[in-house]
Amino acid sequence: AAARGAGETPDLESYRGVGIFIEQHGGQAAPVAWELAGIGRKLADKLGVELIGFVAGHQVEAVAQEAVERGCDRVLVMDHPALGVYRNEAYARVLTPVIREVKPEIFLLGATTTGRDLAGTIATTLQTGLTADCTQLDVDPETRLLDAIRPAFLEKQLAVILCKKHRPQMATVRPKMMEPAPRQPGRQGEIVRVPVDLDESTLRTRVLGVIDEPDPQAQLERADVVVAGGRGLQDPKNLKLLFDFAQVVGGVVGASRAIVDAGWIGREHQVGQTGLTVRPKVYFAFGISGAIQHTVGMENSELIVAVNKDPDAPIFKVADLGVVGDLFAVVPALQAELARR
Ligand code: FAD
Repeated sequence: AAARGAGETPDLESYRGVGIFIEQHGGQAAPVAWELAGIGRKLADKLGVELIGFVAGHQVEAVAQEAVERGCDRVLVMDHPALGVYRNEAYARVLTPVIREVKPEIFLLGATTTGRDLAGTIATTLQTGLTADCTQLDVDPETRLLDAIRPAFLEKQLAVILCKKHRPQMATVRPKMMEPAPRQPGRQGEIVRVPVDLDESTLRTRVLGVIDEPDPQAQLERADVVVAGGRGLQDPKNLKLLFDFAQVVGGVVGASRAIVDAGWIGREHQVGQTGLTVRPKVYFAFGISGAIQHTVGMENSELIVAVNKDPDAPIFKVADLGVVGDLFAVVPALQAELARR
């Protein structure tokens, strides 16, 4: 994972602490920020070091305060009008020197569109290693090495990637894989305002406007209830079954890749390895076989309810409640029962 030809970070031992990038948009923290706070706190406690939040943006006081309440010991706030809307150049230019000065031994970002974009720029500038899209993280307090764990070979193996000779050890973390840190109102921590020297006229990109479109992917990722269907629906016209059910239970429709590839439904509905990772309170899987590439995107749901006519379908291995039966009979019956309550 080390940057090629970059040699070794000279003062490796002087790096201490766990840093997390608190992603926010318009003063609203991205859910992954608090997931990083959760795992970051665990790593910091194991190493006996502080958890440091890095917040960049404009008018982000409330986010910084919440970062303390979610477990950060220290929050560094970089506030400037030019950071109001995310731009790689502006954010990297402001964050990189601060990371260089603070010297956290670990630095984490969410594997979101923003986090993936920013992490690469920061890692190359700092000439350190970056493990992208981790699904688990651990640390060895003896060696102080981060185990950055991510699926490899079509998710069939888990690769543990170590960054031995460079600091910080950087990783992006797939959203929804980590338990979010609970908010503890009244928790004390230090909020430090870092002066930002950024001249808008020196930036190569200019934000002309922001078009706020409803984002179906975000809707699915945040849904408390997901109603997902697969090839067992047999025909695109039967998708109506899913949408009707979703309406009754207040859910958002998800899909297996099989029916996305078949063109029955848009890719924004796809759950799994090459789709979205979801972690709703309830996940309904109707006519989905439960291939590993699908389950990796939903197995952390709180309650999984599966309907499949094949008793040996692998979906039943991850399901909390399973009905072996024909979905065309079971789903309408379940819907009628739920509507009645
Ligand atoms: P099938 O496997 O065909 O299963 C249909 C199920 O419906 C069967 O279990 C059957 O018993 C049941 N069924 C049929 N009729 C009925 C009925 N009347 N009542 C009840 N049950 C019925 N897949 C994803 O979902 N997401 C991904 O992100 C993803 N990424 C992939 C990436 C790679 C690199 C590869 C190689 C594959 C990926 N896949 C992904 C595909 C994955 O391997 C499976 O092929 C896919 O998930 C299968 O979709 P399915 O369960 O809808 O279809």
